[in-house]
Amino acid sequence: MGGVPHGREAVEACLLCGGTRWVPVAEVRAQMHPDAERFTFVKCHTCALVFLNPRVPAAELARYYTPDYLPYRGAAAWGAFAPAVAVGLWAMDRRRTRLVRRFGGVGAGSRVLDVGCGRPTFLERLVRVTGAVGVGVDFSDAGWRGEADRFRDLDLRVQDARDLNPGDPVDLVTMWHYLEHDYAPATTLQRARACLRDGGGALIVEVPNHDSWTRRRHGSWWAGYHAPRHTALYTPETLAALLEGSGWRVDRILPYGTMDAYVLHWMSRMERRGIDWSAPMAARFPGFLMGKLTSSPRFALERVSSMGVMTAVARPA
Ligand SMILES: [Zn+2]
Repeated sequence: MGGVPHGREAVEACLLCGGTRWVPVAEVRAQMHPDAERFTFVKCHTCALVFLNPRVPAAELARYYTPDYLPYRGAAAWGAFAPAVAVGLWAMDRRRTRLVRRFGGVGAGSRVLDVGCGRPTFLERLVRVTGAVGVGVDFSDAGWRGEADRFRDLDLRVQDARDLNPGDPVDLVTMWHYLEHDYAPATTLQRARACLRDGGGALIVEVPNHDSWTRRRHGSWWAGYHAPRHTALYTPETLAALLEGSGWRVDRILPYGTMDAYVLHWMSRMERRGIDWSAPMAARFPGFLMGKLTSSPRFALERVSSMGVMTAVARPA
C-alpha cells in the first residue's frame, strides 16, 4: 500500500470511539461521479463504526458537487417525467412532516432547527402545516439563494455545523441524511443538544443503514456509500452509541425513514451498471417505475426489517 493517495487525508482515529485499529470492509468506486477513483471504507475494531479512510479533505469536497450532480438538477433532470418526480419529492416532505409531528411533538409556535436543510422545502411545508417556526442551517446558501421570496418565512443561515446557532433555543432538531456527511459527528450532536430549550426537546436523525437489505444485496455498489461524500455509515448500534456519547438518550430507532429505500436499491443497480449520472434521466424512468412496482412487496417489509435507511428519535440525556 504505502502512504495516502494524493488529494486524500488519513483519518487518525475512529469518529465514534477514538480507536486506532480497523479493517477494510468495502472498496467503493466514486459514486454519481465520472472518474473511476476508488475509496476504502473501514470498520473500527473497537466499536464497529464503518467510515471512509482515507477521505477527501473537506475543503476539496466541492469537486464532487458539480452543477450536474443529479440531486442538484432536481425533478427537471427527468425531462417529461419531471412532474412525477416532483410528486415523489413532495411526498417525502409530507412523510417528514408527519414523522416530526408524531415523534417530535411539533405544533404552532414550536421552533424547529433543520441541519443541512439544502433546498428547504421540508421546513416550508412544516411551517405551513403546523404553524411552527422554521430555522434552516446549511454550509452553503445554494439551496435557497435563487428563491429568497419563496422562502422568506424561514430563518435560513449559512453556518458550519460545529458552530450551530439557531438564535433562540429550539424544541426540535432534525437531520435528514446529513449526519453521514459530517466529519465530526459527535461535535455536531453536542452542539445540537446545546441548541435545545431548557428541560425538553428532541432530535430526529435519518441516515442510511449499513445493516440493511440493500447494503447486503449490493455490497460495494450500495448507493448508501455515496463515496466519497459519505464519511460514516451507521448501524442501529453505532448510531445509538454515537448519540449516547453526545448528550442524548435514544428513544427509538425506526428501521425505515422518509426516503424511499427503493431509490437506494435502484441507484445501487445503476452504479453497478456504470451509467452516466450527468445525462438526461428521462429514458431511465420507465425502468425505475417498473422496478418499483415489481419490488414493492419486498420493500413493504421495511417497517419490520430495514431495507436501506433508519431514523433515530432521541431526547436530551
Ligand atoms: Zn470506533
